[in-house]
Amino acid sequence: MHSRGRDKRLTVWGAISPIYMATSYPFLDVETKRYPRYFNTPNQEVIGKKIAALENAEAALPFGSGIAAISTSLLAFLKKGDHVVFQNEIYGGAHNFIVKEFQNYGIEYDFTEGVDLENFKSKIKSNAKVIYIETPSNPLLTITDVKAVSKLVKKHNIVSMIDNTFASPINQTPIDLGIDISIHSATKYLGGHSDILAGAVAGSKEHIDKIFQKGINFGGNLSDFMCYLLERSIKTLALRIEKHNKNAQIIAEYLDGHKDIAKVYYPGLPSHPNYKIAKAQMHGFGGMLSFELHKNIDAIAFQNALKMIKPSMSLAGVESTILMPALTSHALLSEDDRNKIGISNNLLRFSVGIEDYQDIINDIEEALQEVKK
Ligand SMILES: *Cc1c(COP(=O)(O)O)cnc(C)c1O
Repeated sequence: MHSRGRDKRLTVWGAISPIYMATSYPFLDVETKRYPRYFNTPNQEVIGKKIAALENAEAALPFGSGIAAISTSLLAFLKKGDHVVFQNEIYGGAHNFIVKEFQNYGIEYDFTEGVDLENFKSKIKSNAKVIYIETPSNPLLTITDVKAVSKLVKKHNIVSMIDNTFASPINQTPIDLGIDISIHSATKYLGGHSDILAGAVAGSKEHIDKIFQKGINFGGNLSDFMCYLLERSIKTLALRIEKHNKNAQIIAEYLDGHKDIAKVYYPGLPSHPNYKIAKAQMHGFGGMLSFELHKNIDAIAFQNALKMIKPSMSLAGVESTILMPALTSHALLSEDDRNKIGISNNLLRFSVGIEDYQDIINDIEEALQEVKK
């Protein structure tokens, strides 16, 4: 009686999708010939639809890691003789993939500052097929004007891609801003609990189909169990992001103007060089920020003095974590080169968690007092 307009089969489903671990499915008399590497098990389909909905995209695919999503997407649109423009400041693993692999495929690339539109314009060659941006970027929270970039590429018939990991789809929906393909390391905010390695790609049906065709050949699929965990995580995504945003804003304001802090990088601070653009294109400023300790404070001693905030390679979990780019993501650069791009030995990247913000502030304050003793 009350099920009018509903698919009756759904009434046997619970609030969460059952896990389909099967790698073998019927192929006779069925609409879909299912196989995990074809991105079409029930769990893969469910998570793809949810991510597409979050991104306001027609379609989405889950991948086994953020890098699988990035590499498969790039190679779906680039072949021998093509050219691609990247923003300078992109995720280290993506940077490594480009500089180590692209020459083997005969793909040309250029990096550019990527803040001013002119930076991109000047790099576009006649054989350019893709522009790839990351905003907010890692670790300096640089903001690129997403709308301006998507307008530019439409004129040149180039496919635009964004790494939307730092913002999450709650804070930024790049497809609405004209970008073709939005990519995530779902290991970060989408997962949110530091227990999933996953990636995702969202875009139009046509673009996602191209990535799907490459995905079948490269095999970077997400397992059904991970799909289940990711589905569970996404249920609280909006709530978590709301708290990440709120805490990060409070922490950024606390650090900004603190006598022991030389500089704060956070798009939610009006002093951020692209605050206005961030405000226009983001629904929230996110949980990631970076700050530089004053020269007289030792960054390693400071990290060791923290009690609640843990030094960690990853980010975007519910717990606050901190990382020193000079020792980790940018360790391969010389100190000179690091300083040139603003990554000093005293720079810390801070993934603000969802704890009580006063606990976070107390931990930082006590650690500062400890190292100054
Ligand atoms: C972690 C990360 C990636 C890579 O994702 P993996 O899931 O580790 O493969 C890509 N982009 C950004 C911005 C990241 O933080």
